[in-house]
Amino acid sequence: MSVALKEAQEFLADHWSPDVDRRAWMELVVDERWAVLRWPEEWYGRGLADDEAKEVEALFAAAGAPGPGQDITNLWAGTMLAGGSDDLKRQFLRPLLLDQVAMCLLYSEPGAGSDLAGIRTSAVRDGDEWIVNGQKVWTSGARGADYGMLIARTDWDQPKHRGITFFWFPMHQPGVEIRPLRQATGDARFNEVFLTDARVPDSHRLGELGGGWWVLQTALAYERAAMGATRRGPATGVLGATGRAHGRIPAADVSLLDLARRVGKADDPAVRQALMELHCARTVNDWNAERAKAVMRAGGSSPLASLGKLAFSQILHRAGRLQGHLLGVEATLDGDEFPTARDHNYSQLNAYFFSIGGGTDQIQRNIIGERILGLPKEPEVDRDVPFREVPASGQPRR
Ligand SMILES: Cc1cc2nc3c(=O)[nH]c(=O)nc-3n(C[C@H](O)[C@H](O)[C@H](O)COP(=O)(O)OP(=O)(O)OC[C@H]3O[C@@H](n4cnc5c(N)ncnc54)[C@H](O)[C@@H]3O)c2cc1C
Repeated sequence: MSVALKEAQEFLADHWSPDVDRRAWMELVVDERWAVLRWPEEWYGRGLADDEAKEVEALFAAAGAPGPGQDITNLWAGTMLAGGSDDLKRQFLRPLLLDQVAMCLLYSEPGAGSDLAGIRTSAVRDGDEWIVNGQKVWTSGARGADYGMLIARTDWDQPKHRGITFFWFPMHQPGVEIRPLRQATGDARFNEVFLTDARVPDSHRLGELGGGWWVLQTALAYERAAMGATRRGPATGVLGATGRAHGRIPAADVSLLDLARRVGKADDPAVRQALMELHCARTVNDWNAERAKAVMRAGGSSPLASLGKLAFSQILHRAGRLQGHLLGVEATLDGDEFPTARDHNYSQLNAYFFSIGGGTDQIQRNIIGERILGLPKEPEVDRDVPFREVPASGQPRR
């Protein structure tokens, strides 16, 4: 038995009980360095190898004790660890691990979503600060967020990927205007964010000046892995604003089985076939998610996360269609008087969250084609051109 496993046994025996105060428990887990086992000791971790960490995680899980695993799932803390200065890490890592900082992702813009390297929000240096102007869109959880992970263009003479810088951007300031957007589901959980002479200190920069694209890749890999690994609902702290903001996740195969029984279709061979296919797809996707996580644990960013995210979005659409088939004409109803139909409608529409957010299905296919199957890269005519010379539809050159 490893030293860590023995210590974990003692820790659980001394401190864990199902009735402990949840907040106090999480503080103890973080401070006693059980939350991020693979991280270095100086940053709340134990520097464990993946196999050892998994044993400890399994021990906590068997005891029903929450806490470990954030080194794989906590997008915000993981990105901070990867790109933040020691001062930023000291200031933010603990509150992030305790879920005490509300965060959002300031990436997408009206003219740059799939092609994020085409962002046009600019940051201009002013002493120890940067002045930020531009517009972000689809920003989940922007209302109520304390900070946003912002990508902004700091050098217009570099080609598109090289002039971008990544900031830990304070949201509570006069230059930030947030307007909610209404979604097809009826929710209004994401927003437009207008940045007008907003400010961010240079000390809140993650990574090198002009090196934001590479910090972004770490953050995106966390997001995709989390989305691909999601089963019945977003795991705590995984998707942060994105996941939590999109709350209900479509019914899993187990509740579809219950539904099939309830509507008397559980013996229908076509329904049984569809249920089984869905179950197999979920199971294979879980295995795939484990493979992707293993690569991430070893410090890599895996294109397998794209496979998992794509598969999960397909599973959600299939589950929604099957649910509709089981409900029959009831699926055409909506509203609180018809909760099953209402949930079905929500599930079907919300499945698009997973096929668009965090990179669309088509983009995941491109990544899989290029990085897993080894197909030729898409032609990119603007890749090596100074960004200032790249024309933007409807916008003047700068
Ligand atoms: C629920 C939800 C939450 C979101 N939350 C956030 C958030 O918190 N922060 C944030 O910054 N963004 C967020 N987004 C935005 C999301 O990341 C973008 O919508 C997504 O990356 C697609 O960009 P776009 O909407 O500009 O579409 P576009 O990039 O304009 O794409 C339009 C269509 O063209 C296809 N396409 C584009 N390029 C290619 C290509 N090279 N090859 C093949 N097909 C292509 C796309 O797949 C898509 O079907 C969220 C989106 C959703 C739906």
